[in-house]
Amino acid sequence: MLQLDQIPLKQIHGVSALKEGELHAFGIFNVQDMLEYYPFRYEDYRLRSLSEVKDGDKITVQAKIMGIPVLQRYGRKSRLTCKLMAEDWMFTATWFNRHFLKDQLTSGREIVVTGKWDLKRMQMTVSDSEFPDKGVARSGTLQPVYSIGGKITQSWMRKTMNQTLQQFGEMIPEILPELLVRKYSMMPRKKAITGIHQPEDNREGQEARRRMVYEELFLFQLKMQAFRALNRGRADGVVHTVDNATVREFVRSLPFELTDAQKKVELEILHDLRSPYCMNRLLQGDVGSGKTVVAAIGLFATVRSGFQGALMVPTEILAEQHMRSLQKLFEPFGISVGLLTGSTTGKKRKELLASLQMGLLDIVVGTHALIQEDVYFRQLGLVVTDEQHRFGVNQRSILRRKGYNPDVLTMTATPIPRTLAITAFGDMDVSTISERPKGRIPISTYWVKHDLMDRVLGFISREVDQGRQAYLICPLIEESEKLDVQNAIDLHIQMQQAFPNYHVGLLHGRMTPAEKEEVMRSFYANEVQLLISTTVVEVGVDVPNATLMIIMDADRFGLSQLHQLRGRVGRGSHASYCILVADPKSEVGQERMKVMTDTDDGFEVARRDLDLRGPGDFFGTKQSGLPEFRLADMVADFEVLEKAREDATDLIKDSSFWTSPQYEVLRGYLQKEQIFQGDLID
Ligand code: ADP
Ligand code: MG
Repeated sequence: MLQLDQIPLKQIHGVSALKEGELHAFGIFNVQDMLEYYPFRYEDYRLRSLSEVKDGDKITVQAKIMGIPVLQRYGRKSRLTCKLMAEDWMFTATWFNRHFLKDQLTSGREIVVTGKWDLKRMQMTVSDSEFPDKGVARSGTLQPVYSIGGKITQSWMRKTMNQTLQQFGEMIPEILPELLVRKYSMMPRKKAITGIHQPEDNREGQEARRRMVYEELFLFQLKMQAFRALNRGRADGVVHTVDNATVREFVRSLPFELTDAQKKVELEILHDLRSPYCMNRLLQGDVGSGKTVVAAIGLFATVRSGFQGALMVPTEILAEQHMRSLQKLFEPFGISVGLLTGSTTGKKRKELLASLQMGLLDIVVGTHALIQEDVYFRQLGLVVTDEQHRFGVNQRSILRRKGYNPDVLTMTATPIPRTLAITAFGDMDVSTISERPKGRIPISTYWVKHDLMDRVLGFISREVDQGRQAYLICPLIEESEKLDVQNAIDLHIQMQQAFPNYHVGLLHGRMTPAEKEEVMRSFYANEVQLLISTTVVEVGVDVPNATLMIIMDADRFGLSQLHQLRGRVGRGSHASYCILVADPKSEVGQERMKVMTDTDDGFEVARRDLDLRGPGDFFGTKQSGLPEFRLADMVADFEVLEKAREDATDLIKDSSFWTSPQYEVLRGYLQKEQIFQGDLID
């Protein structure tokens, strides 16, 4: 039988070549992809009784048309009203810009209307209507809502999904072993996929989702456990031979004493470096906890063992910063550090690549420019990635493949609960820096409304007059980098007028790398006292003399982003402040402000963030660096994840898994995922 992933989209009736191209943009390339393109929520068109609904609810009711519709026109706009009767309730229905409906609203005819219910005025603002005598499509059902865009409309997607299910639904194969389907009383796969797109009711939708969430997590775990089983005991990693005395000499040269947490992590890393197994370690620590220096110790040990090290970061600003601080630390030891970013070009780039390849350069710091094809190392021994959630799995593994089984350290400021990290990353070890350096004064966070902006400006003068520096972050305009930039430019002009005696800098994503570098350099050097910026300073930037972070329209940012931004201050010995300027309209926005003012502990912020988002937010793990799934949310579905892991482990241990015909589909799946070619999984 033909596999669904081999059937091209154009076999679906109604999918033209043009539409096919549009679907590609969503990662849909064949019938299987189409069927696995799940809705992220449903719209409820089920019929309700007016006696049980609340004021403000969005509802669907069936009613009878009473009397004569009234149409008012205002230029190109119009308003159509008509009396309707549902059960014993007489109410007014209002349509905007649907003048063409007027002739169809004949007295006595049945109609199904969907809209917002206003109990006090006994009226409904109608968003959708259908006439039962012409047949209904939506009414009485839950309608899927897909993430779409471009020329694909919601109704086209619904229609096409329906068509796909009709043509190919019968061909959907079961892929889970019978045993597991029965163990959890799950729906068969065919029913679950149909049920996710077109649930009869909430219960069926939930059951369908439960089945597919389990399946996703199970396949993910199966892949990881299979890989483990096939690679267990492969001791062919790089062995670093550095001795303790040499490392201690470097640690003593640092300008501060390591915290206990840093020391503990340092030992864990050194242990891994010396072992013949490949290190695959995740280092997590709140912003400002001092991860960079721990990476530096690892890099030092690598170079002293005769290997090269690479440090990959997500932005050029960060690359420059790490480059400078590593150079300072390594200079006395004669260790060379190079910088490779998108702006390293021409002769400079050629020379750098040559010295990397010949082993003349010990350490290279860079952006994703490091993973370009023509970058070669002589002997890559350690790969470090900072702010790992900003990189895709592929980017990290390309860098790793530039050496022969180098050790790998990934760093993140987004705290992931330990149990979750272990389950999610399988054989990745986790180290946590749980304390910040001594002598840090906690950051005081305030939330003010826009009408207090004068006071905020006063605060800026106070800090700057004491020799400190400040950041002012512009509002985030979703999906419009252009507006972001315009905002930054406007604010910059305003602030220059407000503070004629200070140097006010400007930083945004549309500047050239050289311009950005110059602005950051002058901010590091305190030649600029107030830096107006978009979120480009969000990750990693370290200017200890900056003590004030002001975030405009703070309620537009997510909690983890706010915490990251706040982490730009509180990095030195001076008291630091974060001021959130916001008049939040939504409850969630207010709640975010409250979380930020309640705590500056990143783990606590992350926990409250999860509470706020709640389960069912399918996109909830985006920022956390956890693997992403179509349906499953590692955090919300954690219990399922654990069960799936146990089941996968048991199955892999069972020798019949590798031979019995009943597992052929699953083996085929692993084959497709290239497990047998020894592809590492992050
Ligand atoms: P992050 O974990 O956010 O990447 P950084 O590595 O940038 O944090 O460190 C934040 C600041 O703290 C840097 O200026 C760094 O030099 C300093 N720092 C790191 N470790 C210590 C320590 N043990 N004592 C004092 N300051 C430290
Ligand atoms: Mg950092």
